[in-house]
Formats: sequence, structure tokens, C-alpha cells
Amino acid sequence: MPHTGSCLCGAAKFTISTPVKQAAACHCSMCRKWSGGILTSVEVPKDGLEIGESAPIGVYPSSDWGERAFCTRCGSGLWFRLTMAGPQDGTFYVNMGALDDPSGITLVEELFIDEKPGGYALSGDHHRMTGAEFFAMIEAGCPPGSD
Ligand SMILES: [Zn+2]
Ligand SMILES: [Zn+2]
Repeated sequence: MPHTGSCLCGAAKFTISTPVKQAAACHCSMCRKWSGGILTSVEVPKDGLEIGESAPIGVYPSSDWGERAFCTRCGSGLWFRLTMAGPQDGTFYVNMGALDDPSGITLVEELFIDEKPGGYALSGDHHRMTGAEFFAMIEAGCPPGSD
């Protein structure tokens, strides 16, 4: 069953055509500001996301290597997309919170654990990575969420 999702107002709908079972959480300051909390997302290859016709989608280039899409009507965040050159260019990290039914998806890693506010923590014995470890992995050519 493909996952479907949308923004809060429902104007921006999408379908993920590839199987999705794993999610990553990011605590970096950009994800925190953008999402208003902990950003959890699922990796989707660049040809795996079908975006609804006439979806009112705005794009904010948040860094040299990625952009963030949102609904221009209600403001909901939808996905982060890699824009850096390389084999992972165009990969989507779709906000888990935008999925209509996120059941069956398991959190497998936390990124930028060193930027996580001290007042909360996610439980579970999954992989945790600091920002420095994350950037070292990027420089080594492994995209986020690939392990
Ligand atoms: Zn909307
Ligand atoms: Zn982040």
C-alpha cells in the first residue's frame, strides 16, 4: 500500500510510490525552527514521490545542499529535498507528520543529537549521530539515512 500524505489544509497532496518502513529524526536548529519541534522524516528516492496536481507548494532553499517544501496556503512543512550534486541529488525526506497513516514506520536514527534541547528525549535503542559525525558521513559520500 503506497503511503499518501498532505498538508494540514489538504490542498497539497502527495503519494509515495516506494515502500517506506524507516524514519529518522533530526534535532538540528534548522529542522527545529522549520518544524516547530523534532523533525521526523522518511527517505524517498527522487522518482518515488508523486505530487498532486495544482498543489500549492512553495520551496525555501534552506542551505547549499537542500530545500524545504511547504504548502503556501496553510504553511505546513512537507519535505526536505537534497539539491547537492551527486547520486543522491533530488532525494526527498518527507515529513513523517504529513503522512496520512504513519503506522508501521519505525524510527531508526537521530541526527544532530548534540543540538537536541535537554528538556526531552526520544526513547529506544536506535543509532544516534552528532552534527560532526553527520557532516563527516556526508563528506565520505554517504547520504543521510543510508545506513
Ligand atoms: Zn495546506
Ligand atoms: Zn535537521
